[in-house]
Amino acid sequence: MNSLMLNTDGVQIPQLGFGVFQVPDDEAERAVSAALQAGYRHIDTAMIYGNEEGVGRALRGSDVPREKLFITTKLWNSDHDRAERAFDESLARLGLDYVDLYLIHWPVPAQDKYVQAWQALRSIHADGRVKAVGVSNFTAEGLTRLMNETGVMPSINQIELHPYFQQREMRAFHEANGILTEAWSPLGQGKGLLADPALTVLSEKYHRTPAQIVLRWHLQLGNVVIPKSVTPARIKENISVFDFILDSEDMAAIGALNSNKRIGADPDTMNML
Ligand code: NAD
Repeated sequence: MNSLMLNTDGVQIPQLGFGVFQVPDDEAERAVSAALQAGYRHIDTAMIYGNEEGVGRALRGSDVPREKLFITTKLWNSDHDRAERAFDESLARLGLDYVDLYLIHWPVPAQDKYVQAWQALRSIHADGRVKAVGVSNFTAEGLTRLMNETGVMPSINQIELHPYFQQREMRAFHEANGILTEAWSPLGQGKGLLADPALTVLSEKYHRTPAQIVLRWHLQLGNVVIPKSVTPARIKENISVFDFILDSEDMAAIGALNSNKRIGADPDTMNML
């Protein structure tokens, strides 16, 4: 498993992790246990997913030592002005005494409290209860504001990113500012993307599934990826992507699939509390 260095205290993040969005608590326990068995060491949850307890049970039920795990959770939108307490509640549900990465889930521009939330995350980080802090769904404007008002850029920004929505400008902005790009819905939620004829061609050429081709594309771009599946065979399939390389022509062929269409919400208008 390849790891990437975050700009905070030399913390390393495994480049491929396991997402649990929309997985009910009990099922999350089973899915995370299967993922740990398959070799995943990085788990991505959030308060709003309602499965931090199931994730915690899976972690405790596994024999992987805590220091080998990388656990991410996220601050929900209605908690921007009570981030320290919300963090403690997440920690208690997970049954952990620290998490590796804590993210502001959405900026929520209409509420305009994310700078305050970022300051609270910095203070949780200074206490040593989280190894690194970052954000999710931020635009360049929001990131620049955090920098200007607090002097500290997030170490990572988790954004929607897949071959149909490639986020070239955000990736360039991140690179210029030492921020890692983490791709959510990296498989485009599996919908039409994995049946795209261009991916079928590559799948036949490399003897890999379309999901593996897409994950390999992300890894070669330098993205952190957190594919989700609750199916044991797919959980294994999605981590079996470290033993082949897409050549530059094929990277370009996937690059040509961009249609700039989001699946999820637009951060500029996502103001749900
Ligand atoms: P994804 O792109 O990982 O797609 C998951 C779906 O793809 C599965 O439900 C399944 O239907 C299909 N799939 C998975 N593996 C497959 C395979 N090998 N072959 C065929 N089909 C396969 O979508 P996602 O769950 O939306 O995103 C991944 C993770 O990103 C989430 O679980 C969550 O942790 C994170 N996320 C974060 C945000 C955010 O706002 N920060 C938003 C959405 C998701």
